[in-house]
Amino acid sequence: MEEGLIKRVMASMECGVCGQCYEPDNISVLGYQEDLWFLKVFCSACHTQYLVAAVIREGRMPEVITDLTEVELDKFRNEGKLTADEVLDMHNFLKDFGGDISRLFSRK
Ligand SMILES: [Zn+2]
Repeated sequence: MEEGLIKRVMASMECGVCGQCYEPDNISVLGYQEDLWFLKVFCSACHTQYLVAAVIREGRMPEVITDLTEVELDKFRNEGKLTADEVLDMHNFLKDFGGDISRLFSRK
């Protein structure tokens, strides 16, 4: 899937803090594994930055697995669990779940 399409799909998502829809210009693609995309989104309304892992398939609403805010990221960083390499950490985080995406959703 193309990055431009991913951004359009993610732009239909609402900010978890203020409910404002994201703007495509404020969405950066960090990387992906098959249907799993790692994104950084910034809400222009409340200025919250998120690190998002989402399963995005064509013709479907994205299913967000994690959406950590920058504040939460800082907390993890202080606890020494998160390094500056956010993408790698996301991969490691998902590896801990044994790559079973459906299990992630059932944990909610
Ligand atoms: Zn917001």
